[in-house]
Formats: sequence, C-alpha cells, structure tokens
Amino acid sequence: MANDDYQHAMAELRDQKVRLTPQRKIILQYLISHHNHPSAETVFSALKDYVDNISVATVYNTLKLFVDHGLVIELKNGDGSTHFDYFGHPHYHVVCDNCGKITDVFDDQFAKISQSLEQTTRDKSGYLVTGNHVEIHGICPECQHKLHLI
Ligand code: ZN
Ligand code: MN
Repeated sequence: MANDDYQHAMAELRDQKVRLTPQRKIILQYLISHHNHPSAETVFSALKDYVDNISVATVYNTLKLFVDHGLVIELKNGDGSTHFDYFGHPHYHVVCDNCGKITDVFDDQFAKISQSLEQTTRDKSGYLVTGNHVEIHGICPECQHKLHLI
C-alpha cells in the first residue's frame, strides 16, 4: 500500500515536471509512511542523520512544493505551528482542543460528502474551488480521561 502510494506520487510529480532530488524522494517516503501529521521540524529531526545536505528550510520548501502539487495538505492545530499530511487517500481530521492532537478519520462516504461540499460552494459562491479540508474539533479519549470527563 505505502509502496503503491509512493510510486503513484512519484509518477504524479514526474508528470508535473517536478525535479525528484534524493532529498525530495526521502521526504515523500517519510510522509507516506508516517501518519503523525509532522511539522517540518519533526521531519527534519527524523531524517537529518540519514540524508546529506538537508536543512529545516529544505524540508519546509519541499513540503510546500508537495502542497502546491496537490499531494500533501497543510494543517494548523491551534498551537501556531504548521503540520503536513500526505493526502493520497481522502480523509478528514478531528483535532483535540485540549492537547492539539490531529487524528485521521476515514469514511467510505467522505469522497461523496467532499464532492458535494465543493459543488455547493461553487454554486453558492461562484468560486473556482481548488480543494477542501474538513476539520472537526473535540476532546480526544486520553484527554477525556485526564480531564475526568468520562
Ligand atoms: Zn487530547
Ligand atoms: Mn491526516
């Protein structure tokens, strides 16, 4: 699955004439195989010992490049930092208001719901819609315990 995703993403970038440097390939591999919604700093810390000529700036610029090419989305979780997520499989997010954790929600209906949201937005606002990111807020199970809510 992760390898298929990687091959698919590489083909996509090649089609869009993006130069595939070793750093870019490894950052892409990291994103596809980790579901931790990392910041650029997290990706840098994980890779710095294995990859030559890598800096936080390289990682950040690469992540932005993937965002521009529609493979990755940017997320804010309210702590002021930016997190990144490989978005090959459409899903939405639920964010904990207490600890800031971002959790994936996969739902068979989501592709349909997402299309419907975009269509309605086009119809009602006249925008040329380029994408969406659905985010639900709440308190995660761990924080519900910590806060004695359950
Ligand atoms: Zn929490
Ligand atoms: Mn996600």
